[in-house]
Amino acid sequence: MLDEKTIGQIIENVINNMPGAITKTNQKGVFDTMGEALCAVEKAYKQLKNYSVAQREKMIENIRRLTLLEAENMARLGVEETGMGRVEDKIIKHQLVANKTPGTEDLKPQAITGDEGLTLIEMAPYGIIGSITPSTNPSETVICNSMGMIAGGNAVVFNPHPNAKRTSNYAVDLVNRAVLEAGGPENLVVSVKNPTMDSSNEMVTSPLVKLLVATGGPGVVKMLLSSGKKAIGAGAGNPPVIVDDTADIIKAGIDIVKGASFDNNLPCIAEKECFVFDSVAGKLIDSMTQNGAYLLKGDMVDKLLDTVLIKNEKKYSINKDWVGKDAGKILKAIGIDADPRLIICEVPACHPFVSVEMMMPILPIVRVKDIDEAIELAVKAEHGCRHSAHIHSKNVDRLTRFAREVETTIFVKNAPSYAGIGAGGEGYTTFTIAGPTGEGLTAAHSFTRQRRCVLVDGFHIV
Ligand code: NAD
Repeated sequence: MLDEKTIGQIIENVINNMPGAITKTNQKGVFDTMGEALCAVEKAYKQLKNYSVAQREKMIENIRRLTLLEAENMARLGVEETGMGRVEDKIIKHQLVANKTPGTEDLKPQAITGDEGLTLIEMAPYGIIGSITPSTNPSETVICNSMGMIAGGNAVVFNPHPNAKRTSNYAVDLVNRAVLEAGGPENLVVSVKNPTMDSSNEMVTSPLVKLLVATGGPGVVKMLLSSGKKAIGAGAGNPPVIVDDTADIIKAGIDIVKGASFDNNLPCIAEKECFVFDSVAGKLIDSMTQNGAYLLKGDMVDKLLDTVLIKNEKKYSINKDWVGKDAGKILKAIGIDADPRLIICEVPACHPFVSVEMMMPILPIVRVKDIDEAIELAVKAEHGCRHSAHIHSKNVDRLTRFAREVETTIFVKNAPSYAGIGAGGEGYTTFTIAGPTGEGLTAAHSFTRQRRCVLVDGFHIV
């Protein structure tokens, strides 16, 4: 006989596994075709023009409230649908989006006055924005983009990652529910039930879409930047972390384990390879193993390489089966029974674990003799993505030198990588970090265009 709890779990599993469904089939803003989605969002944008900034802010406040309320649902759904990440960390990511994504306060108009009158520079909407979102932070990106884009006075059409469509469309529905409850228009953000390359092309080429935003790997950024339209590209990274001999080594070990294991290393900002001074390497590794890391040695490192990466001729690429998986599952696949937060291993600088953006809770550690070697190797490993880099050191000259040479959008000193997006560090958050196109950490202001209004002779008081 099945007890009540087991029956409940079975029903929940069946519902969760129904294609395109979460707990209901009619999701607000989610359409069968891109054509229908574009039609609906055009209508919504026309209506939004009649709303005040204060009304937009009310919608955003309500998105914050519902995101906090439903953070766990989205975290669970994200892990279940994509098979990647950790529920407890995804909850934190949603809370971060709800609490630290800027709203309309981010829009700062300018006024210039003088003998010849008054000139205003205002931050105007683009109109309808087309956004392509990743599988690694699906609902987080949809909600964060929606908040910034709506704050800027825009409407949004999403073409989410096909492997995360249920989670992404849950977020589209949530945003619409929040907007409607706050008195806003229907279908202010829209999406398609089954996103494909065709629906993506239709969105990108639609004359209704005035700005494109891509959050993902190099393929999608290149595609958007070749579209002939204004585009914001938030692309891949491969963030190095340096630890020198002046750092608080125990704290550095703790911080790096926290950052590199967060959501199983899915975040694009997470530490993905470590360069440590030879003189402090042993102490750093001890600190890591005492704080959640498992040190892999010898042949087992080769076995791990053969499992998580695929070799095509001379080039390595990721075996997608292992992206974002728990460290314990990865270890089990190579015959080790342990369940740490992170796997670490010592490798030479030329090892593929260093050069490939793996997005797995695996951190290769490379010993270096001094800061010159550390910076040279770290800059090489970052591949010029200009994304993120991190360092643990108390030597100001070295901190400054690495920052100048690596030229990344985010640079974190003496903290886990996620401090760079406002988790335990100052500043707002975003899940769309636009390195290639230079907007940096995107927020409402990134989704506006400047318009100038000039009044000559008069209307200033000096
Ligand atoms: P992905 O590149 O596989 O997919 C991202 C999105 O682009 C998806 O919606 C996908 O369907 C679409 N896409 C991919 N190739 C395309 C093409 N040629 N034409 C049109 N659409 C295309 O990325 P993912 O695996 O979901 O996410 C991980 C990658 O994204 C990593 O490289 C990570 O560093 C990067 N990322 C960057 C940021 C950032 O803010 N810079 C944030 C999150 C993820």
